[in-house]
Amino acid sequence: MTRSSYLVCTDLDRTLIPNGLQEESALARPLFERLMNSEDITLAYVSGRDLGLVEQAIEEWSLPTPDYIIADVGSSLYRNTRQGWHMDSNWSTHIGEDWSGLTAADLHALLNPEALTLQDADRQKAFKLCYETRAEQLETATQKVQKTLDAKAIKARCISSIDETENLGLLDILPLRAGKRQAILFLSEQLDIPHARTHFSGDSGNDIDALAAPFNGTLVANATAPVRVNAFDAAKQEGHASQFYQARGLPELELNGHYAAGIVEGLLHFFPEFSKRL
Ligand SMILES: [Mg+2]
Repeated sequence: MTRSSYLVCTDLDRTLIPNGLQEESALARPLFERLMNSEDITLAYVSGRDLGLVEQAIEEWSLPTPDYIIADVGSSLYRNTRQGWHMDSNWSTHIGEDWSGLTAADLHALLNPEALTLQDADRQKAFKLCYETRAEQLETATQKVQKTLDAKAIKARCISSIDETENLGLLDILPLRAGKRQAILFLSEQLDIPHARTHFSGDSGNDIDALAAPFNGTLVANATAPVRVNAFDAAKQEGHASQFYQARGLPELELNGHYAAGIVEGLLHFFPEFSKRL
């Protein structure tokens, strides 16, 4: 494998994929693809989707093929090999220790939360338990679940987000060591790429943790106002305000800051040397 200088990680839905309410700039994805077409960039997609749905998205939206896929909200990691996608068992073993042998199904039996409904069976993974509820009930329900987990001394992480198009509150429960941020940190360490040359872009609640991380993070402009506030606050609180960027649009490049336009803008902000590559 050639040594890579940059690790570019991005969320897919409503970040690289323009499947939200806002318009996508015509040049956004072509420019992103041109930037990614460099030997010194390792590209990773970081998504709540599972491997099959990420592959489907790559095909449907003609996205560049990444080197890595961090799927299931950071509870699985796959590497692109000649033989296809290869699951990184080191990552699975590492995060599985938090649940000491329990799977997501065991955890559901333990929790059995009244206010939450299980999401479809195909969303449930060994290390990802997924619930849904009405958006306005999400916060209280999440707090209750977290309390139960703490009481049972289960090391788990609750990631809540709102799907504003459906007014749905979504809750993913993962091992404490899993998550988008943790998987990106694991990958950058494995690849020996410093935080200063690692970048993540996202748009929603389950991206905030990764946006506030010690590596560079860009929030695309189509994020909702509460996510904007929370992401900036989180980055500031962790002392990473200067590693956080909010895309606002680059009129001189005809980029509106939404989706891939925001990613390109963020990459140019943190890596100004990329402007020669456009
Ligand atoms: Mg998203």
